[in-house]
Amino acid sequence: MSKEIVKLDDVCVCYGAIRALQGVSLSVEEGAIVALIGSNGAGKTTLLNALSGLVPVQSGHIFLRGEEITNEKPHIIAQRRIAHVPEGRKIFSELTVEENLRIGAYTQYKNKAKIEQLLHMNFELFPILAERRKQMGGSLSGGEQQMLAIARGLMSEPDIILLDEPSLGIAPIMVEHIFEFIRQINASGKTIILVEQNANLALETASYVYVLETGRIVNENTSDVLIHDDTIQKVYLGL
Ligand code: ATP
Repeated sequence: MSKEIVKLDDVCVCYGAIRALQGVSLSVEEGAIVALIGSNGAGKTTLLNALSGLVPVQSGHIFLRGEEITNEKPHIIAQRRIAHVPEGRKIFSELTVEENLRIGAYTQYKNKAKIEQLLHMNFELFPILAERRKQMGGSLSGGEQQMLAIARGLMSEPDIILLDEPSLGIAPIMVEHIFEFIRQINASGKTIILVEQNANLALETASYVYVLETGRIVNENTSDVLIHDDTIQKVYLGL
């Protein structure tokens, strides 16, 4: 039986008067790909930020393997093996590909052999990054930068990867490659929480999907069921 790895219980996040998350509860099983879909401003990014400690949670609880991590500092959450690959990639343009990756290994800074091993693993997984290891991050294409952002996340050897809009602004052919990598990374045992505006992609990739609207979960189910849901088809899939 699968184990629950992440749980949110009635989580609320406000930015001043804006109630970005209004009592969100969800559960993620170890080894799953779970997607969050919803229109602009629904609260998807806020949910990932709350999970990785980047925004304060006003009420409710977040658990990792049953232990509360609500409002822990981001570096503590990273040490607990949650990696956040942010929207817009946020790579360091003025650093090389290899330097960007080494920064991702900051949780392993005492273990030089481990860093070399992780670097090697990433270059095997993403050969294009190995080819471009001495190039500046800013000189890569959007798709390559997204691969670099994911690889940088993997450098902390996470169990859980939070991926915020990995398809955004990327050529369709590259999106296919990136999602193939996401499936491979998941097959290697990592749990993935994916925020994705492209509902088709989300439903194809994830086993379970939550639908967020104005800070609340309005629907949730396995992808197989949601793909046949009338509202999902009309509102998110344009059918
Ligand atoms: P998008 O796909 O557009 O990024 P989202 O579903 O990720 O949307 P959030 O970015 O989490 O949504 O935003 C949720 C709500 O919180 C929106 O109303 C947004 O305007 C607001 N918001 C987000 N970040 C901030 C901030 N730093 N300060 C004030 N309001 C914010």
